[in-house]
Amino acid sequence: MKFNPETYSIPDQREVPFIDSDEIWSYLNNAKSTNERVNEIIAKSLNKKRLNLEEVANLIQANTPEQIEIIKAAARKLKEKVYGKRIVLFAPLYVGNYCINNCEYCGFKSSNKEAIRKTLSKKELISNVKALEQNGQKRLILVYGEHPKYTPEYIAETVKTVYDVKTGNGEIRRVNINAAPLTIDGFRTVKEAGIGTYQVFQETYHPEAYKIYHKGGRKMNFDNRLVSLDRAQEAGLDDVGIGALFGLYDWRFEVMGLVRHTNHLEACYNVGPHTISFPRLQDASEFKLNPDYLVSDDDFTRIVAILRLAVPYTGMILTAREKAHIRQEVLQYGCSQIDAGTKIEMGAYSEVENNHQDLKKEQFLINDDRSLGEVIDELLEHDYLPSFCTACYRKGRTGEHFMEFSVPGFIKRFCTPNAILTLAEYIIDYAGEETAAKGWKLIEKNIESLHETKLESSVRMRVERIKQGERDLYF
Ligand code: SAM
Ligand code: SF4
Repeated sequence: MKFNPETYSIPDQREVPFIDSDEIWSYLNNAKSTNERVNEIIAKSLNKKRLNLEEVANLIQANTPEQIEIIKAAARKLKEKVYGKRIVLFAPLYVGNYCINNCEYCGFKSSNKEAIRKTLSKKELISNVKALEQNGQKRLILVYGEHPKYTPEYIAETVKTVYDVKTGNGEIRRVNINAAPLTIDGFRTVKEAGIGTYQVFQETYHPEAYKIYHKGGRKMNFDNRLVSLDRAQEAGLDDVGIGALFGLYDWRFEVMGLVRHTNHLEACYNVGPHTISFPRLQDASEFKLNPDYLVSDDDFTRIVAILRLAVPYTGMILTAREKAHIRQEVLQYGCSQIDAGTKIEMGAYSEVENNHQDLKKEQFLINDDRSLGEVIDELLEHDYLPSFCTACYRKGRTGEHFMEFSVPGFIKRFCTPNAILTLAEYIIDYAGEETAAKGWKLIEKNIESLHETKLESSVRMRVERIKQGERDLYF
């Protein structure tokens, strides 16, 4: 069979499942990864054009050490070109771990009788948000198990509670969600509460593998989950995040699945996902990792580089599941957002002393438990510009409009100035002396790099206003 990379065997229609495993395997098996072809594909990507499935398959199958280096170098270049040195920071907050599903790999699965179940009370939610604000966090992702308790109305209420918590100059300005897929009405309800991104990870895009890991509860239905973010779009929630849990099935297939999902959303709604996540499977209570599909560090860095080239304008999220040195390495290939100061034990942010991880209380183990301050310090050390910017969604620059990201000068006009302003706030309100000194130096360097007198002076004026006590200034 001959495959046309621009028109897939299953034409894209709204809310119609779009994954064809045979098609994906055919692309992978028929890939032609000559040096010439790899260079052509890289050139297209550096031109900031999204790659099609055939092209991505070729990059995936480019296996020689030289080709892998070329791909990584190109990803590094593209990342600098599109995102600059800006890294957006956030923290996850687990609201409730009751769950009716039985995902084999997750510590919250219904069959895990060892797990200590909990839903944060309103008081606990508030005290956790206060603790996060006192550290300087501005962006959260709220995480929920799947349970009749966690209705869209309940989720919306917790979102509103979070937005209402203010501690000194601290406030949460963007609340994202990672929860079970909802109905169209349900997505409408959470959108009205003012959420940022709604994330649903497909876990594995391979339908047969999916069946093996999901043997109980609503999550058993592969297709329902696959088109759930179509329902979000139908509800007007155009800011969505996709993801695959690497380690469940062949990573090559999952990368293709993520790209296919991106293409589907673009074909149907004219807008791709806002973010892509690529968590790697971690140890969890009552779960032993299956070595068959585990992704090595070397392959993981390749995955990040290939995804960066495949979808130049999609935000890429890296979490504290990864060790600090891996995080440091892959930041250069393509990640635009990381979590920092992460605690995934229920309610742990407001506990004074909690330095150990307890699998009975956690979904899985994390590998980077540094504080927000430590992560920021390290980012500054490596010349990255930490950002707590929340401007786009508050200015309505989401969904199709977010594609303005591809407009030349967008980063310079909005992202860099907003990163500078939010870093200035962080330095004044939360940073220690050493971090502050490094931070101001980097701010100055970034202002100068704007190379536009008018813009430079309006950023400087706003920084001065922040020094005088104003907050939440953005472009
Ligand atoms: N319950 C909702 C769901 O399953 O979509 C949302 C929350 S779930 C807690 C968030 C994500 O955690 C899952 O989508 C899965 O990818 C990830 N996860 C689950 N178990 C994991 C493990 N052992 N290691 C790494 N990530 C895991
Ligand atoms: Fe429940 Fe989500 Fe864990 Fe599955 S991954 S058991 S749905 S919390």
